Amino acid sequence: MTRLQKFLLGLLPPDRRAEAEAESRRWKVVCAACGQATSIWDMGGVRYGATGRSLTWGRCKACGKRGKHRVERHETH
Ligand SMILES: [Zn+2]
Repeated sequence: MTRLQKFLLGLLPPDRRAEAEAESRRWKVVCAACGQATSIWDMGGVRYGATGRSLTWGRCKACGKRGKHRVERHETH
């Protein structure tokens, strides 16, 4: 867990922290170029209480390409 994640989870009531971690693991950032999916949690982030889909820009760790990444919620991981 990163310091940022500890900080963000610390803002939540203790009984919600495990849930927020699980939720963050369900959110995946998917590279448009190679299809590599990385969870928000594994990228050092926290996403909790959000719905829907969004797009983000960044550099893919798998293929090294800079570009569009989809942010999707997966029910299982
Ligand atoms: Zn990629």
